[in-house]
Amino acid sequence: MTYPTEQCRTCQAPIIWAVTDRDKDMPVDAQPSDKGNVALSVDDKGRVRARVVPAHLAFGRKDLRLSHFVGCPDAPKWRRR
Ligand SMILES: [Zn+2]
Repeated sequence: MTYPTEQCRTCQAPIIWAVTDRDKDMPVDAQPSDKGNVALSVDDKGRVRARVVPAHLAFGRKDLRLSHFVGCPDAPKWRRR
């Protein structure tokens, strides 16, 4: 599964925009991470949905990503948007 990527507007990292269970936009690192805990999927409206996977279920998976809020140097600015 591939997802559309964009560049983070502040740190230029490739990210995927997803929508959480609470219908909030969330940027997710495009590259999966061993420490990732966010599972992506596409819903029936074609939106990328992000779901946080509990740690005991995330262990050993290679397809999970980190919220870009974790790694972005400018995240504090983003949250106030
Ligand atoms: Zn960034």
